[in-house]
Amino acid sequence: MSFLEVSVHGNAITERDVQTGTNRETIRRIRARWVFSAARAPVAEGVVSIRGGRILEVAQRADERGVEDLGNVAILPGFVNAHTHLEFSSLAEPLGEPGIRLPEWIRALMAWRNSEAGLRAENTIQGLEESVCLGTTTLGEIAQTGWPQAAFESVAVGAMVFLELIAPRPENLEMAMEQARRHLQHSHSRWRRGLSPHAPYTVRGELLDYAIALSSVHRVPLAFHLAESREELELLRSGTGPLADFLRELESWDPGVVAPPARPLDYLRRLAAADRVLVVHGNYLDDDEIELLAENCDRMAVVYCPRTHGHFGHPCYPLPRMLAAGVSVALGTDSRASSPDLSMLAEMRAVARKHPSVDPRTVLELATLRGARSLGLDREVGSLEPGKCADLAMVALPDRGAKDPYELLFDSDLPVVATWCRGEPVYQAPAQV
Ligand SMILES: [Zn+2]
Repeated sequence: MSFLEVSVHGNAITERDVQTGTNRETIRRIRARWVFSAARAPVAEGVVSIRGGRILEVAQRADERGVEDLGNVAILPGFVNAHTHLEFSSLAEPLGEPGIRLPEWIRALMAWRNSEAGLRAENTIQGLEESVCLGTTTLGEIAQTGWPQAAFESVAVGAMVFLELIAPRPENLEMAMEQARRHLQHSHSRWRRGLSPHAPYTVRGELLDYAIALSSVHRVPLAFHLAESREELELLRSGTGPLADFLRELESWDPGVVAPPARPLDYLRRLAAADRVLVVHGNYLDDDEIELLAENCDRMAVVYCPRTHGHFGHPCYPLPRMLAAGVSVALGTDSRASSPDLSMLAEMRAVARKHPSVDPRTVLELATLRGARSLGLDREVGSLEPGKCADLAMVALPDRGAKDPYELLFDSDLPVVATWCRGEPVYQAPAQV
């Protein structure tokens, strides 16, 4: 039994253990009009209590002592952006007109990457800063060799850094395998490691199997772009079509990279042997593929990138079908090469608009708890539950009432006004005048 003496200083509470004479860590309490924990129902006039950078409690508290009132905002778990490529973050707008075909878009992407503006560490830093200002506190980042490691170590957001592996030809294999091995030798408290064999048309089977084996041995996740476009499905089926023509033109094509006739299901069956997998996009997954993903939902997830999906003009995303089947789904922005910005709030609002049949609570989970689960980080982040990191996004709410509090979040264009990581403010929007 311990005897605690509680003292209030401004907005903080300090507990002093009378028996030992020692101060316990300060508790910080913040109240908002709504607290969405992503684990339980939203709490009106909820108070989030934080100690040592972790959530102590989320409750509706009558006790006014030491509570900092944030007013008409919502407190949410910091967002999990499960798929992005921050190297493209200095682009002012997506590449190509809406409805652009994937081969033409890749052509524009490569031209930009090879230009003076591309491949600069500052682009990634810009993306990290933008993410923080938009309430994102955990990233699933696809990185190139030479990625700016120091930048990830100096920001507050956490990241799963997937090293991109590309080897369409036999002569590229050894170097890609070496890069993968080297990447797995490092990690840091702010970022963890994963591998991203890029896609079926850029990764030879030997490299894919090698990455799967490394994932299993080192217990790290893989991210793999799959079933992204009709052109990809055609290439898998027949080994021909506009994507094969385009890759041949780039001299990045080797017929041995695919084994037609193939389909995404063949890849999913192989990937199921990995420790954890993020299937990026999955725009054209069929019923068999959705079933396999549902059966493996504890280790395999799909990352839906709603506004990127819209940029390419794909047919309606099978989100309700996937959710009903039990597939684990996360949300991502993808990069600014196909999305107007890195806002996860905008992605959630896009989902709420495009898929009105999906429960808004699920929409929030896609960008928080389910995203964290897809990365294997849900014991630490993704919801406001006791013991988890106090990573928070604060969103301004409209001055009206609403029957359903989720309406205030999603039927609105008000922004993120503050971001906290590990219980500390890391972004505060300038005050409105
Ligand atoms: Zn991607």
